[in-house]
Amino acid sequence: MAREHFDVLIIGAGLSGIGAGYHLQKLCPNKSYVILEQRKQIGGTWDLFRYPGIRSDSDMLTMGYSFRPWTHPRAISPGDDIRDYIADTARDAGIDRNIRFLHKIKTASWSSQQANWTVAAVRKLPDGGEEPVTLTCNFLLSCAGYYRYSVGYSPEFPDASRFQGHIVHPQAWPEDLDYAGKRVVVIGSGATAVTLIPAMARTAGHVTMLQRSPTYIVSMPEQDRIYNWLRRFLPAMWAYRLSRLKNVGYMTYVYQLARHYPNFVKKGILNKVREHLGPDYDVETHFNPRYNPWTQRLCLVPDADLFEAIKSNRASVVTDQIETFTEKGILLKSGKELEADIIVTATGLIMQILGGIELFVDGQRIDPGASLAYKGVMISGVPNLASVFGYINASWTLKADLICNYVCRLLNLMDRKDVRQVTPKNGGESAVANFVENFSSGYVQRAVATWPKQGSKSPWRVYQNYFRDIVSLKWSSLDDGALEFSSPPKASTDPALAGGPLKKSVA
Ligand SMILES: Cc1cc2nc3c(=O)[nH]c(=O)nc-3n(C[C@H](O)[C@H](O)[C@H](O)COP(=O)(O)OP(=O)(O)OC[C@H]3O[C@@H](n4cnc5c(N)ncnc54)[C@H](O)[C@@H]3O)c2cc1C
Repeated sequence: MAREHFDVLIIGAGLSGIGAGYHLQKLCPNKSYVILEQRKQIGGTWDLFRYPGIRSDSDMLTMGYSFRPWTHPRAISPGDDIRDYIADTARDAGIDRNIRFLHKIKTASWSSQQANWTVAAVRKLPDGGEEPVTLTCNFLLSCAGYYRYSVGYSPEFPDASRFQGHIVHPQAWPEDLDYAGKRVVVIGSGATAVTLIPAMARTAGHVTMLQRSPTYIVSMPEQDRIYNWLRRFLPAMWAYRLSRLKNVGYMTYVYQLARHYPNFVKKGILNKVREHLGPDYDVETHFNPRYNPWTQRLCLVPDADLFEAIKSNRASVVTDQIETFTEKGILLKSGKELEADIIVTATGLIMQILGGIELFVDGQRIDPGASLAYKGVMISGVPNLASVFGYINASWTLKADLICNYVCRLLNLMDRKDVRQVTPKNGGESAVANFVENFSSGYVQRAVATWPKQGSKSPWRVYQNYFRDIVSLKWSSLDDGALEFSSPPKASTDPALAGGPLKKSVA
């Protein structure tokens, strides 16, 4: 039976996958595409995470799409509104008609002879069973995010089974968890912990943030007053674009300042925390990290909500180490015991490349960790594959938009050249850095070996800089010598040509 075939197959219907659909429809209107999504609805991260208070930790003026203004008054937005924004975009542009839900992709195999991918997925059936589904496509665009969906990261805690209360991971939040009046201990000090704590503290008896070491925490207004003011008299798209530019500029400035003058930025952040918590609070112990600002992601809290919860004694911070779990809670190395009814392990994610899909090129299994990243988008030696990975120091969508635009330009160039295959070819460049460099967060360190590496110079570098990426992905020539354009041999009656992999390189 003939397999269904598409020009482009997009993996994932999250923020990036819907953005990719939009770009393809606009810039490559003649291309057929399909989105395969393992879950039963749109939204990815913003559908999966359901813990109390779930919200963005960057502003939606930069995390929204370049082509669709964010019109809610809150720039630091609740997760539900983000999910609606993604779903509305899909519905309004008719992208939702191209999504196949409950399809989990397992393998993708490239054939140079056919110049296409064979994608093997399993579809979940209404009765709980599964059936295999196989499709083919010319180009594979991974919008599968960067972490494993099935389960989050949780270290082995000694004697965790002794604890008599509930242990909950934010990635699998039980819908019916009742924490009103309860004593809650949240293990962790990252973005999830600082989001959860003020939200739970509104009704919980008390919430304790238990951290091994502190994180930089910065308060930002929940509403962008300049944007909300501009919207009163400018068309929505103008106000959005101007405010987006302002915020990208500001974020880039702060990041560069932190990299070049870390002590200055550190002092500024700690002074602000002191202003929020008052002179008697032990900021040195609980809010002064061992690392420099922006060598891990800064944690943002809207309108100082975490500090307000601490000031009103609804929440507190303990900086210590876990000796063991007990029946009643957690015994710390200092000898203190934290009693709890609920323990939340806000201990992070497990990073995963390409949605856990196994890749094969002409029968050979590909190890992305042994390859180089081309412009942070493609993988050396792997034809017709691009994947979206956003910024670690700015909003994800800024880069997702640039990558999707780049892929469309590439597809159009291939059409103009009349070629079917494009492959980044590493002509002697060595791996000199990890895909994400100068970033010490645990979830990145645990996984970075399995991600492609960076070379020493462009186009083998992965920038964490929107303005550089505009030049690299939008304004630079596509035909840069590192991409090889080719086609499989045409069916020929000449016996000398039959069966041979005749490459038509036009690079
Ligand atoms: C709690 C949390 C908060 C965050 N907050 C911010 C923020 O404020 N700002 C910011 O810029 N970034 C933030 N991020 C990063 C965030 O993931 C991105 O902003 C954005 O949601 C990524 O979109 P995506 O579509 O690329 O990936 P995802 O949202 O992860 O979506 C990927 C989709 O691919 C599907 N998929 C994966 N593998 C397969 C497969 N094998 N087969 C089929 N389908 C598959 C998934 O089911 C999912 O729907 C946050 C991340 C988390 C976890």
